[in-house]
Amino acid sequence: MSKYIFITGGVISSLGKGIASASIGKILESRGLKVALMKLDPYINVDPGTMNPYQHGEVYVTEDGAETDLDLGHYERFTSTFSSKFNNITTGQIYNSVISKERKGDYLGKTIQVIPHITDAIKERIRKCAEVSKADIVIVEIGGTVGDIESLPFLEASRQFRLDMGYDNVFYIHLTLVPYIKAAGEVKTKPTQHSVGTLREIGVIPDVLICRTEESLTDNVKEKISLFCNVRKEAVIESPDMSSIYQVPLVFKKQILDEIILSHFKLICKSSDLNDWEKNVVNRVLNPKHKVTIAVVGKYIELQDAYKSIYEALIHAGIYNDARVEIKRIDSESLEDTKIDQAFEGVSGVLVPGGFGYRGIEGKIKAIKFSRLNKVPFLGICLGMQCAVIEFARNACNLKTANSTEFKLTKYPVISLLEEQGKLKDMGGTMRLGAYPCKIKKNSLADQVYGKNLIYERHRHRYEFNNKFKKLFEKNGMLLSGVCPGRDLIEIVELKGHPYFIAVQFHPEFKSKPDKAHPLFSGFINAALQFETVA
Ligand code: GLN
Repeated sequence: MSKYIFITGGVISSLGKGIASASIGKILESRGLKVALMKLDPYINVDPGTMNPYQHGEVYVTEDGAETDLDLGHYERFTSTFSSKFNNITTGQIYNSVISKERKGDYLGKTIQVIPHITDAIKERIRKCAEVSKADIVIVEIGGTVGDIESLPFLEASRQFRLDMGYDNVFYIHLTLVPYIKAAGEVKTKPTQHSVGTLREIGVIPDVLICRTEESLTDNVKEKISLFCNVRKEAVIESPDMSSIYQVPLVFKKQILDEIILSHFKLICKSSDLNDWEKNVVNRVLNPKHKVTIAVVGKYIELQDAYKSIYEALIHAGIYNDARVEIKRIDSESLEDTKIDQAFEGVSGVLVPGGFGYRGIEGKIKAIKFSRLNKVPFLGICLGMQCAVIEFARNACNLKTANSTEFKLTKYPVISLLEEQGKLKDMGGTMRLGAYPCKIKKNSLADQVYGKNLIYERHRHRYEFNNKFKKLFEKNGMLLSGVCPGRDLIEIVELKGHPYFIAVQFHPEFKSKPDKAHPLFSGFINAALQFETVA
């Protein structure tokens, strides 16, 4: 039978609950346990796929094509787990399932209520994840902050879970903020006390508190938190700000958080250390020999979370190449009327990520033209590939008005909708989603970086390379080096005679890990390290 850990957050959002959950997954996995991680999201959207990145940050895509919360990215990067549609639940999905059962008459005669019908549906989904994953421990992160109206049904379901499954089989962790107040010259525990108080009103008594702080907590502060919050002192875990998120599992391990959890569950596991993680990830990320600056040209650059997996994948490629990757975020819209060589000063590689809509496109195309002509290493992802195709059509194949039909009606629709997509009416969950195979051409750059001829990568897009233009592109020096077998969809394009110009229709960033950088990214950083920066 699986055991369950619920992780809640208090005081403020953005404390790093996802990273804490992933780190707990990591330390338990290192003890030989099979873990699964889940995120419960309180919003009413069925999934984040229809949300603007400004609202939600990146949409993380799983192998099976679920559009999910970006915390699932942390789970996959820190642990060896694979997430699927079973690992992310939203209020929208829960209400959808309850209402459709009600319409079918499954509850005939009853009044449908939050308790027990909504909470039952939540619990059923959590147990389903345990069943599908066959995990020893299911770690369930509850989105939002304690005290929010909308997360109440999830918290209530977590309270009932201990009643249903037995005290020993359920564990509660609360992540909170212990702020340092400069004027008073001390850290304050009151917000934590209130947050735990609110949680206790709901009936959830935390077994562990993880305290996010700027600095270490003194013994006195730990004692005070322990007394007022009714949590054993050794279960008050400090989590100070770190230079790298990949240090967090080590911080937890040092405070024997794994032992505290295992002793509650009465589980006896092999001992373990995180030496490999420390050596191959943490030490390398903290003390790199080289440095390289990469421009990420996108339209959501102000928002830290919008390209989360891309930024992480660049860090991983840095770890692989023993280099610190400095990221220069460039707003593509601003490039439209800037001197491009000024914007790229000191830059050794250009990455154009995915996106939707016309805003900022011309700036991306300008950046790609610059990389192509100046032989600056370039990696294009999804919309980044589509822009590379448009740029090549306009400036190397002389199709001046070439465009994607997502943006404009044109005589040269080099990127267009497949017929099957054209017929769709619903926006949610209808893109080409999840893992598809891709066959790689021999002796291409893709062949060189991947070192195999069949790969699987995750997709999230509606538009595709228009095969009517294949011959013309090839004639002008573009190599169409990756194709989805059976469907003849172009997945990878590259340029002959350029040191590293490659663009892909899929999202390689979702499969990169700190100790296993994605080959397209490690190849890119390697090429950037060899490139003399743009003067
Ligand atoms: N907007 C493009 C499409 O739908 C690209 C999507 C993306 O970059 N994820 O095809």
